[in-house]
Amino acid sequence: MTTALRVWLFSLIALRAFGADSGGWQAGVARTAITPAAPLWMTGYAVRDHPAEGRAQELWVKALALQDAAGHRAIVITADLCGVTRAISERVAAELRRKYSIPRSAVLVNASHTHCSPSIDGYLSGLRDYSDADRAAIAAYTLKVSDQMVATATAAIAAAQPAQLTASRDRATFAMNRRNNSEKEAPARIAAGKLAGPVDYDVPVLAVRDHTGKLLAVLVSYACHNTTLSFYQWHGDYAGCALQDLEERHAGALALFAQGCAGNINPFPRGSTTFAEQHGRDLADAVDRALVAPGDTVSGSFASVLSDVPLEFAQRPSDEEIRAAAASTKPAASRQMDQAWSKIMAAEAAQGGIALTYSYPVQAWRLGNLTWVALGGEAVVDYALRLKGELGKNLWVLAYSNDVMAYIPSEAVLKEGGYEGKTSMIPYGRPSAWAPGLEEKIVAQVRSSVSELAVRR
Ligand SMILES: [Zn+2]
Repeated sequence: MTTALRVWLFSLIALRAFGADSGGWQAGVARTAITPAAPLWMTGYAVRDHPAEGRAQELWVKALALQDAAGHRAIVITADLCGVTRAISERVAAELRRKYSIPRSAVLVNASHTHCSPSIDGYLSGLRDYSDADRAAIAAYTLKVSDQMVATATAAIAAAQPAQLTASRDRATFAMNRRNNSEKEAPARIAAGKLAGPVDYDVPVLAVRDHTGKLLAVLVSYACHNTTLSFYQWHGDYAGCALQDLEERHAGALALFAQGCAGNINPFPRGSTTFAEQHGRDLADAVDRALVAPGDTVSGSFASVLSDVPLEFAQRPSDEEIRAAAASTKPAASRQMDQAWSKIMAAEAAQGGIALTYSYPVQAWRLGNLTWVALGGEAVVDYALRLKGELGKNLWVLAYSNDVMAYIPSEAVLKEGGYEGKTSMIPYGRPSAWAPGLEEKIVAQVRSSVSELAVRR
């Protein structure tokens, strides 16, 4: 293509964007590096036996601030963290409410679930029992990160300018159901086109452009554990690589990643930076294809609702079970989790009893003609597939949002048990598996929230 033709084509595209109705949206973005300076413990894997050794990639908190024509604000905060707690998201939202009167429901905090990120106070508390000094360092980091989330959101609000929002989607296929395929048999199954189990290859993309058509920000989601890597270096994993690629390809634009319903989904293959970069490139390529697709212009107003669904645990562990876990003779990583879990349970029992219900957050957003659902916890992919089946394939279904308190199995996965259905409750420091019936409760809340948004002005 000649330069003249390229310039002419670009002008046409810019003109089209400029001429299009922005729908009165304003948008601003900002980011803050959150890579710890000191060698903190990492979280996600029980087998790690010492703190991080260094930084292979910067970890980020990023914020996208949106405002509709009527002045309703929405804040998306994404973080290169394994999980966020209710304490963090409430603290951040309370501060944004105080400064800007933004309702709690209009603040969405999502963790990318990278396992090469720092331990967070109150998250995966049964993974290992930290020393008092480590515990204090983790608590201080957690507080600092929540302050950085507020500061980043504040900067994004300050940077707001007229913007056009476009929603589109494409596909990436490195996600694999990890309950239904072993890594050993995966290559043969992939070659035969016979990977088993539910998976969601969708890559939903929200493009934010300024009045000249220049890309300001791109928010992307994918439902896949951010676990290509397991070394002792800070790293955003495949999501971090995808965002780095996108920011290099679109100079001046900020790329954000929100984790989807990835509870039972792993990337394949795993185990090296090369694979993380390869998956990152695949995801960035999908985003770039989505960016040149016509897409749907997001028009209309913003509305949000955040509800707590009371979920029950199946049973209270007996005092005998709690004592037995303290005296666990399992191999090192399992023993360390048993002991940490036992300590948590004993402390809860001593302080007013072990709580057998949990307030599970379900958030729903209407961004004009676009609907988002943001679930708490490590929701399995079955939720995304079911909700999109019932409410329309253009629905965005995020998980790992606002509070990552445990895995959230579907009814089928709960019944099967295994890691996502049962045993992960030990590292999460929860009393037992969830009681049956959680899927219907969660889906019912999503349905009712989405209907409520449809009539909201
Ligand atoms: Zn996980």
